[in-house]
Amino acid sequence: MSAAVEAAPKGALEIVPLGGVGEFGKNVLWLRCEGASILVDVGVSFPDETFPGVDRIAPDFAAITGERIEGVFLTHGHEDHIGALPYLREWCDAPVYGLPFTLAMARRRLEEAALPPAALVEARGRETIVAGPFRVTFFRVSHSVPDSAAVLIEAGGARVVHSGDFKLDDDPPDGETTDREGIAAAVGTGVDLVLVDSTNAERPGHSLSERAAGDGLRAAMQGARGRVILTTFSSHVSRLSQGIEAGLSAGRRVAMLGRSMRAVAEIAERFGRLRLPMGSRLGAADLRRTTPERLLCLTSGSQGEPGSALYRLALGEHTDLELSEGDLVLLSARTIPGHERSVNRMCDHLVRRGARIIRESEPPIHVSGHAHAGEIAEWLKLTRPRAVLPVHGDRRMLVAAAEVARAEGLSGDRVPLLDNGDRLVLESRRLRVEPGAVRCGTVFLDDRTEAVDPDIVRERRHLAAEGVVVVLVRGDEVDVVSRGVAADDGALSEEVSRAARGVLGRATSEERNDSEWLRAEIVLAARRACRRSLGLRPVIVPVLL
Ligand SMILES: [Zn+2]
Ligand SMILES: [Zn+2]
Repeated sequence: MSAAVEAAPKGALEIVPLGGVGEFGKNVLWLRCEGASILVDVGVSFPDETFPGVDRIAPDFAAITGERIEGVFLTHGHEDHIGALPYLREWCDAPVYGLPFTLAMARRRLEEAALPPAALVEARGRETIVAGPFRVTFFRVSHSVPDSAAVLIEAGGARVVHSGDFKLDDDPPDGETTDREGIAAAVGTGVDLVLVDSTNAERPGHSLSERAAGDGLRAAMQGARGRVILTTFSSHVSRLSQGIEAGLSAGRRVAMLGRSMRAVAEIAERFGRLRLPMGSRLGAADLRRTTPERLLCLTSGSQGEPGSALYRLALGEHTDLELSEGDLVLLSARTIPGHERSVNRMCDHLVRRGARIIRESEPPIHVSGHAHAGEIAEWLKLTRPRAVLPVHGDRRMLVAAAEVARAEGLSGDRVPLLDNGDRLVLESRRLRVEPGAVRCGTVFLDDRTEAVDPDIVRERRHLAAEGVVVVLVRGDEVDVVSRGVAADDGALSEEVSRAARGVLGRATSEERNDSEWLRAEIVLAARRACRRSLGLRPVIVPVLL
């Protein structure tokens, strides 16, 4: 609880990652100074299939209960940076700042959760927002969604640069270069601390320009005779734009499949980021009528999400279109760790329908939006930090970013590695780490942004792994029904019935009238019977009739 977190001395700046260090996604940073706080990014992460019924994982904001939050600053519109915004609204209604496209994505998130719009305040590149004792300045950076930003945060005499997600693409197709001049001018002789995107720190050298992916998409579509299905993250507007251009120049018309793809495309068109000439857009009703070699579909589902348009196409269950022999599927996105199995399964279904799949190619149809080690080094030369805090990534990525920082001349004690909940205190240029200063858990959310009890998730896992045994008790009679239990029905039924009858036999009449006691005893006895005689641990559900 925050009340238990003692405040650092006046004038100090405290930084606590509530998510995003030592893990992929769920990026949230809490900064506190002189009794006031801001948050930078409020993201979610996406569970793999070991979390049944869980749609997204958010940080537990209990830590900020009672804090004076002066503002929420969003670096860009990706889910791992804005996805927890609807959930955050249960804790605070501070104004939300970001560049325009980021806020359009945030507004859509809130609308989807049927929440009244928060105070969303648009900022511009190089604009400074004052929020209590904090001054926050946005600077444009290249990434894989429009209007991505780094921020310079000044508070308590400290100056901190947070890179957001970034790369250094000097000639991106959308013209969104990293604002090196603006950053250099603001940084002056250097800053106290730089937080740096570590996602690709393990990769050497320099990332390829987004343009390379355009070359790859054009090459892949050239000579394709069947339908072309292109999937990427719906937020990757410049990839969509390059895909559309490649399709148009190959004489294809374009359809958008999937709710998120259509929603983001609509926002991107409104911002002039996506252009589809009149007559080149196809509606759902046109799909079957269009000759395969004239059709390009942009679809969501790059992570093999079972409900997505692409997965439905893969299963032959899409209402508006069937794939057939000779169609081409371009997987223009990286697979998020943990989703490899569902992507592979989806690809198998696609191949079964006769489709050809391109994931890797030369030139590539996908390039990363995150800086490689060489760009991280350049970023540090640009921002001239006295200390570096690697963020955004698993531990090994953070370690790789720390190595880059040391190679740039920072001593080891100036490159702390944190876990979520650790507190970094910056005070008159001194740096102090307080491990585990803030209790910082996670919250499971279902598809309606309602919290799911972790016990329920545990139970679902247990059910999936071990099955369920229902023990029906009516007077002295016991019936046993099981589902998903790997045992001979007769043997299981006999063991469990005997155990339950034993409980009934031993119980006094007072105990038998205490249904709660009876249930607990039956669960215990049935569990023991399953374990001892059959080596199984199913979920036991006692039903007293
Ligand atoms: Zn990110
Ligand atoms: Zn991002």
